Amino acid sequence: MSRFFSEKYRALTPYTPGEQPKEMQYIKLNTNESPFPPSPRAVLAAAEAAKGLNLYSDPTCARLTRAVAEHLGAFEEEVLLTNGSDEILGFAFMAFCDETHPAVFADITYGFYEVFAELNRVPYRKIPLREDFSIRIEDYFDAKGTVFLANPNAPTGIALSPAEIEQILLRNPDNIVVVDEAYVDFGGESCVPLIRKYDNLLVTQTFSKSRSLAGGRLGFGVAFRALISDLNTLKYSTNPYNVNSMTLAAGLGTMEDGDYTAKNCRTVIENREYTTAKLRRMGFVTTDSKANFIFAMHPCLDGGRLYRTLKERGILVRHFDKDPIRQYNRITVGTREQMDALLSALQRILEEEA
Ligand code: PMP
Repeated sequence: MSRFFSEKYRALTPYTPGEQPKEMQYIKLNTNESPFPPSPRAVLAAAEAAKGLNLYSDPTCARLTRAVAEHLGAFEEEVLLTNGSDEILGFAFMAFCDETHPAVFADITYGFYEVFAELNRVPYRKIPLREDFSIRIEDYFDAKGTVFLANPNAPTGIALSPAEIEQILLRNPDNIVVVDEAYVDFGGESCVPLIRKYDNLLVTQTFSKSRSLAGGRLGFGVAFRALISDLNTLKYSTNPYNVNSMTLAAGLGTMEDGDYTAKNCRTVIENREYTTAKLRRMGFVTTDSKANFIFAMHPCLDGGRLYRTLKERGILVRHFDKDPIRQYNRITVGTREQMDALLSALQRILEEEA
C-alpha cells in the first residue's frame, strides 16, 4: 500500500476471484463459466464489431437493450446493460444503500456483496442461513435496509420460488430488494415478471454463465423504470461507455441464437443431475442445486484437502475456507467428459483414503 492511498480504502479487502491458472491445463470447474464456447453468431458479430473500435461504443446500448427487453417481455426503459452483472450490483449498492439503508444479505452468499458494502462504506447485516443452507424468508421481513438475495444462492445453488420472494417484497414496501439471478437459467424461476407489481424490486442477470460470455463482461438489471433511471444516473456518472462495442455485438449475436443457449442450459442441467446422482451414490452430501454448480461434501473427506488433492490431479474446483462450509467444495458443471473425469478422480481418492 502506498502512503497516498486514501484513508477511506485502507481497510478494504478486495474480492478474490476464482483462480484462472495459466501454468497448466486444468479441468476447470472453479468459476462457474460455461464449458461451451460462445454462440458462433456472437463470435462473428464481435469480430465484425472490432473493425469499428476506433469509435466509442453506443452509450445507450440501444439495439441490445431492445433485444434483451423483448426477450424478457419488458420495456426498454426497464432494462440497463452493464459490464458484467457485478457492475449493476455495484451501482445498486451506490444507489440504494447508505447510513440509513444498510445492506442486508445472507452470511453465506456471493462474496462480492460484502466487498461492495465495504467499498461504499455502508453498514451491512449478514443473516445466517438455516443449518441445511436454505434461506428463511421470515428473516428478511421488515429488513430495515436494502436486501440482496442471490437466487439461486451461491455457493449453495439453493433457490427460492418467486412466491417466496414475493413474500419478502410484500413485507418490505419501503426497502429495495435486489434479486441476483446470475444462475437462474439452470432451473430457477425468474422474478422478472414481478417488476411491474413491485416498484422496490431490482432483478439482475448475466451473460457470463448460461450465455457463454464471461470474458465479454455483460450483465443487466431489470426494474421499474424509476429505479433504472437512478442506476443510469450512476452509470453516466462513472462510465457512460461501460459496455464495449465487441461485447454489445456478441450479446446481440447471442440473443439471436436463443436455441443455442437453451440447448447448452439443458445439457448443463442433465450433467448436473447425472453427476449429483453419482456423487450421492459415492456417499457425498449435496444440496439441491438449481445452478450450474454442485455444492458437495463427503463425511470421510476433509474439504480443503480434497480441493488440494483434486488440484494436484489437474482438476480445479472452488473451496471456501470458512465456517460452516469448510467441508464443502463448489464444483462447476462442465461437459459430460469433464464430469466423468471428476467422478473417476473422486472414486480413486475415496479408495485411497478408505
Ligand atoms: N452474482 C453471483 C451470485 C455470481 O456468482 C456472480 C459470478 N461471480 C456474479 C453475480 C457476477 O457475474 P458477472 O459479473 O460475470 O455477471
